[in-house]
Amino acid sequence: MLKLKNVHTYYGNIHALKGIDLEVGEGEIISLIGANGAGKSTTLMTTCGIVPAKQGSIEFKGQDITHMRPDDIVKLGICQVPEGRRIFPLLTVAENLDMGAFLRNDKDKIKEDFDYVYSLFPILEDRKNQVGGTLSGGEQQMLAISRALMSRPKVLLLDEPSLGLAPIIVKQIFSIIKKINADQKTTIFIVEQNANLALKAANRGYVMETGAITITDTGENLLVNEDIKKAYLGI
Ligand code: ATP
Repeated sequence: MLKLKNVHTYYGNIHALKGIDLEVGEGEIISLIGANGAGKSTTLMTTCGIVPAKQGSIEFKGQDITHMRPDDIVKLGICQVPEGRRIFPLLTVAENLDMGAFLRNDKDKIKEDFDYVYSLFPILEDRKNQVGGTLSGGEQQMLAISRALMSRPKVLLLDEPSLGLAPIIVKQIFSIIKKINADQKTTIFIVEQNANLALKAANRGYVMETGAITITDTGENLLVNEDIKKAYLGI
C-alpha cells in the first residue's frame, strides 16, 4: 500500500534519512522503532510530504506521491497523528472531531463515525463540550487519534502515541489501535520508542539507527531477537 524506496531527506546539511526502504501492506500494523534522533519522525513527515524527500520515491497504492503537497496526500487517505498530539486547544472535543471530518460531505456517515470514536473512547463523549486544551495527556492522545479517524483514513500514521503517558493509558491506547485495525481494516504505521508495545502490536517491524533501517522482521521475531532485546527492550 505504501512503499518507500531509497528515500533520502535532509534538514539543511543534516542527512536525516539515508536511503530508507520500507513497505506497509494493506491492513497491516507496522512499527518503526529506534533511539532518539534515529529519524523515525522524519520518516513519517517525509511520507506525508511535510519534509520533502531529496532523493528516492514514495508510492501509495502504486501512485507516486513523492512530491505531492501534504494536503493532497491527506485527501488520498493518509492521515498523521503527530507527536505531541497537537489538538486544537481552544476548540471543544466535538469541534476537534468536526475538524477531522472537514474534507467530508457525507453527513450520515460523519454521525456514524462520531458514534464509533465515542464507542472507542467513551471518556471523549463525556467530555465532548470541554475544550481540548484542558484534557489530560491521555485524553488528548485519544482525541488526536479520533480526530484522525474522522477523516476515514486508509492509512493512519502514528508518531509516538505513548509519549509522556502513564503505562496504563499507553496499554489502553495500543489495544484500541489494534481494535481500529481489526474493525475498520485501517492500515497502521506506528513510530514509537516503546519498542515492547509497538512490536507486540505489529505484524512487522523495522528498526532504525542514525537515518537507516538496520533490521526488519515480524513483530514476534523482533521481540525475541537478542540484539533488539539488549538495545531496545532492556532485557
Ligand atoms: P525522537 O524519537 O527523539 O523523536 P526520531 O527518531 O523521531 O527521534 P527525528 O526527529 O526524525 O528522530 O530526527 C532525525 C534527525 O534529524 C536528528 O538528528 C534531528 O536532530 C534532526 N532533525 C529533526 N528535525 C529537524 C529540524 N527541523 N531541523 C534540523 N534537524 C532536524
